Amino acid sequence: MKKPQKISRAVFDEVMVPNYAPSTTIPVRGQGSRVWDQDGRELIDFAGGIAVNSLGHCHPVVVKALQEQSERLWHVSNVMTNEPALQLAQNLTEATFAEKVFFASSGAEVNEAALKLARRYAVDHFDSEKNQIIAFTQGFHGRTFFTVSVGGQPIYSEGFGPKPGAITHCEFNNLDALRAVISDKTCAVMIEPIQGEGGVMPATREFLKGVRALCDTHQALLIFDEVQTGVGRTGSLYAYMMYDVIPDILTTAKSLGAGFPVGAMLTTSEIAASLKVGTHGSTFGGNPLACAVAQAVLNKINCPEVLAGVAEREQLFRQGLEAIQARYDIFANIRGKGLLLGCELKEPYRGCAREVLQCAYGAGLMILAAGPHVIRFTPSLVIELEDIREGLSRLEQSVKTFLESR
Ligand SMILES: *Cc1c(COP(=O)(O)O)cnc(C)c1O
Repeated sequence: MKKPQKISRAVFDEVMVPNYAPSTTIPVRGQGSRVWDQDGRELIDFAGGIAVNSLGHCHPVVVKALQEQSERLWHVSNVMTNEPALQLAQNLTEATFAEKVFFASSGAEVNEAALKLARRYAVDHFDSEKNQIIAFTQGFHGRTFFTVSVGGQPIYSEGFGPKPGAITHCEFNNLDALRAVISDKTCAVMIEPIQGEGGVMPATREFLKGVRALCDTHQALLIFDEVQTGVGRTGSLYAYMMYDVIPDILTTAKSLGAGFPVGAMLTTSEIAASLKVGTHGSTFGGNPLACAVAQAVLNKINCPEVLAGVAEREQLFRQGLEAIQARYDIFANIRGKGLLLGCELKEPYRGCAREVLQCAYGAGLMILAAGPHVIRFTPSLVIELEDIREGLSRLEQSVKTFLESR
């Protein structure tokens, strides 16, 4: 055994696969929307673990749910069901259009399930020719080979050998582009109501309504990937509710577990029937710990006060961002909904999102990039208003430092 000593960032380069380039700071503790690193330095968290820490860090409601479940039952596999999974599935179906739920442990996994279900449904109800999946450029659906191929950034899916086939991409928010490629051979259209990773790009209402209508015309299933937009992130429990467009399949993960890995695919009974016994599965899907936590998260977030609180916080963010814009003129626009907000950098600062991020770390603020041109905010949905004010002031400091460094 090696002698225990303070573990450092250098260890990452020694023993971790080099697919990430984490910052030099190692957080060791979090409370609400404040995080402390190994040296005791405090940071304000506007990143929320990439839209995951929906209740901030160590929220008492989730801590309690996890502690209680951890002393009761950890895992039984899907050879048996369990109470937290049943309870959560019941709550999810009561809260949404859905009648049936499939659980897994991540966004990619529930998207994988959605895509496989759509293909299988088409085989059951039509013929094997109906297998085309349409998705959108700049879309992001996860990193399994199927989901990354459906995602609209070829750079992520190339270099791994032959890709899954019958996937077509077209331009987001362009109904004519979709109309040109959709046909009776299309089995599903997969879309994020607001593209997250692709740059915080909201779909227009007319576009989503048009996508729904085209899917109906061609008997294609509409899959909403709400892995990033779901569970109150936009101020509605799910973004489909604010758009008033009902999908056939919806996927949710990230915020659902508030930091515990869990995902769910929601659909109707009629469509779900195609996932017969043995067609699909996941060892950890429906794990009691994950479901007990998600249950507590859903109960906490799905109430008028918390959802209205998201809209209130959005206003505070927008005011602050607009004030920064008025003083420094670095954004081309401020976009997004609820607490999924993005600021696109304008010329000559395009491509500098990572530099702004670095300056923010320096100023004691955690923010995100969404591609090279957009800085993104996905904080806790219950972030203290005082933390928003202090974080915005640190952001202003970061912008100043960034501009002075040029
Ligand atoms: C993060 C994300 C995913 C992938 O989720 P993982 O849990 O990383 O597999 C899929 N879709 C969207 C829209 C996401 O934002």
